[in-house]
Amino acid sequence: MKFVLPTKIDRSKRKSISIVINKDNILIKAPLRASETAIKQVLLNKQAWIEKSITKVQHKIGTQELINSKNIYLQGRPFPVEIDSSIHSLKFATDRFLVSSTSNLEKQVKVFIQNSFHKYLEQKVFSNAQKMNVFAKVKKIRLSSTKNSWGSCSSNGTIALNWKLSLIPQELANYVIIHELSHLIYMNHSQEFWSQVSQFYPKFKVAKKILKRYSLS
Ligand SMILES: [Zn+2]
Repeated sequence: MKFVLPTKIDRSKRKSISIVINKDNILIKAPLRASETAIKQVLLNKQAWIEKSITKVQHKIGTQELINSKNIYLQGRPFPVEIDSSIHSLKFATDRFLVSSTSNLEKQVKVFIQNSFHKYLEQKVFSNAQKMNVFAKVKKIRLSSTKNSWGSCSSNGTIALNWKLSLIPQELANYVIIHELSHLIYMNHSQEFWSQVSQFYPKFKVAKKILKRYSLS
């Protein structure tokens, strides 16, 4: 089961499983011994409610929130920022970011994504393009940094993806990629286009709504 926001399990001494929708994750409060199957079952039963609730959490998430001196988000999850004066450029160390200084942080993160994290988006383009049978039509993938779009697709087969797609939840990045790849077939937003999108991303309406919460500035 895939949700547009990442799930997080918080186990404690409690009797039943409950679900809380936060601005950036779906928090599952579970008893210490609750099995994975039991948790999955609750998610399955509450699927409709979860999706409805996610779209109701109105909260603008801008770059300031995704990148700041306390946390940097990667794939929708926050990682703490630690100052380490011995390093030259921003580094990701499994569970945290190391920086020599927090000045110009957005630029540092951008360079990091361009140098070492771009593969993440490329892989997503390739795997989705294969599924959608448009692999041969993708001629070029590039990272963009415009303030007004998450992605674009040109008729010559260039897919441009905003580097900030690496910061937001994976399922939202998937939506943008499937949207752009669908333009390789339909260069418009016609009904045929949306039915193409829905074939590979059935919950595109939910994703569109949630994506609007994220701003590129
Ligand atoms: Zn479009």
